[in-house]
Amino acid sequence: MTVPYKHEPFTDFQLEENVQQFQQALQQVKNELGKEYDLVIGGERISTKDKITSVNPSNTSEIVGLVSKANQALAEKAMQVADQTFNSWKKWDAEVRADILFKAAAIVRRRKHEFSAYLVYEAGKPWNEADADTAEAIDFMEYYARQMIELKKGYPIESRVIEKNRLAYIPLGVGVVISPWNFAFAIMAGMTSAALVTGNTVLLKPASTTPVVAAKFIEVLEEAGLPAGVVNFIPGSGSEVGDYLVDHPRTRFISFTGSRDVGVRIYERAAKVHEGQIWLKRVVAEMGGKDTIIVDNQADLDLAAESIVKSAFGFSGQKCSACSRAVIHEDVYDEVLEKAVRLTKELTVGDPAKRSFMGPVNDQSAFDKVMSYIEIGKKEGELVTGGKGDDTTGYFIEPTIFAGVEETARIMKEEIFGPVVAFCKAKDFDHALKIANNTDYGLTGAVISNNREHIEKSKEEFHVGNLYFNRGCTGAIVGYHPFGGFNMSGTDSKAGGPDYLLLFTQAKLLSEQL
Ligand code: GLU
Repeated sequence: MTVPYKHEPFTDFQLEENVQQFQQALQQVKNELGKEYDLVIGGERISTKDKITSVNPSNTSEIVGLVSKANQALAEKAMQVADQTFNSWKKWDAEVRADILFKAAAIVRRRKHEFSAYLVYEAGKPWNEADADTAEAIDFMEYYARQMIELKKGYPIESRVIEKNRLAYIPLGVGVVISPWNFAFAIMAGMTSAALVTGNTVLLKPASTTPVVAAKFIEVLEEAGLPAGVVNFIPGSGSEVGDYLVDHPRTRFISFTGSRDVGVRIYERAAKVHEGQIWLKRVVAEMGGKDTIIVDNQADLDLAAESIVKSAFGFSGQKCSACSRAVIHEDVYDEVLEKAVRLTKELTVGDPAKRSFMGPVNDQSAFDKVMSYIEIGKKEGELVTGGKGDDTTGYFIEPTIFAGVEETARIMKEEIFGPVVAFCKAKDFDHALKIANNTDYGLTGAVISNNREHIEKSKEEFHVGNLYFNRGCTGAIVGYHPFGGFNMSGTDSKAGGPDYLLLFTQAKLLSEQL
């Protein structure tokens, strides 16, 4: 019998023993940096001349790995293999498919710090963020495996005396999984696991800045016994490989996590029915956020400041759940701002391998984008702390707070995806709610309040997929906080929730006359 689900605990880095083990893993992985990784199509390893160079964003002269790059011909080959493999994989017993994920989760759990160390080098994650990313990858595998065992039973439906009815959930076909760099392990592994455990075959195109951790995951799946051709590893460019596969008539679904622009592009392209295509493609998209923490006048103000700072600057604000707007009741605005600035000034920025609170942003284009928003912010508000960036060795940007920002300002509306938070004053709680909802997105939000009426009102009126009370707005845990948002945040597919797997299936009614 399967043990009940419990999320993977985070490593306590207060304990010297854990610190030492993590340091050892960092050293071990450092010795492995710069290796080459192949494409994997139908179990065959294919090395291409053209490579993706994955660099350490903290130190751009350090190469994390050289990863073969698919072109259209190789993408086509992968599609044919996945299409073929689907015919056999879909017939595997759901419990056996789940067992492969249980095994993969166990392998990662045993090598947890090694994976986290890759995330430190490849994604620029501080220790605790890397540890949480790996824990979440384990959780996704564990949780979806359990969910598949439940889903195998189907949903109970009624039968009349003269008949026997059953509702079965069958897989869709070949899915294209396009995964992000910010949760380079967790979200990549989660999207892939959900697609495969439900009986689909996968073409995995990881983010171009973080392909090495994905290559490592492919090795784990192989070790866990996943048959060749079920997951095919095809890193490549979005415009060449991504578009080709999104348009492909044999693509049955696309599972995407990334920016709004790319998500909208995929959604539009996937809507077109191509020659030879006999279905309407399904798109599961998780996109951006412009997430708000509201602070009420009756509230724990220390908790408010801590929640804002942690949600805004954890992993340099590069989470779609990150707090980028603090909307604060005017009675307590000055005090919360002062506390948040004090906490922010204590944060360290630097090489995450050396245990800084904040590492770099992802790459040059992220650096340039965030710095340009800091310039915009200087015109729209008062820069109270941070504001500087340094891209000489890596892409470092200080945690930055702008105060006195108007609700209509660009830095209150547009996703920055970096360590920048705008503070905005609200006249009263209703005004705060109005500001919070004044965005195209609807992913996460938090309310810091001790006023029960206001909490209840927010439940009705604060329009986000993940709404938290008296805590920050990041850090959803698989199985406990199903994650996904409204409006331009995506299709509200709740990753890590009980209905997520349904998105990778289609329901078939079986009714037999007795
Ligand atoms: N699930 C993560 C959180 O709750 C965010 C995921 C993302 O940034 O895509 O913080």
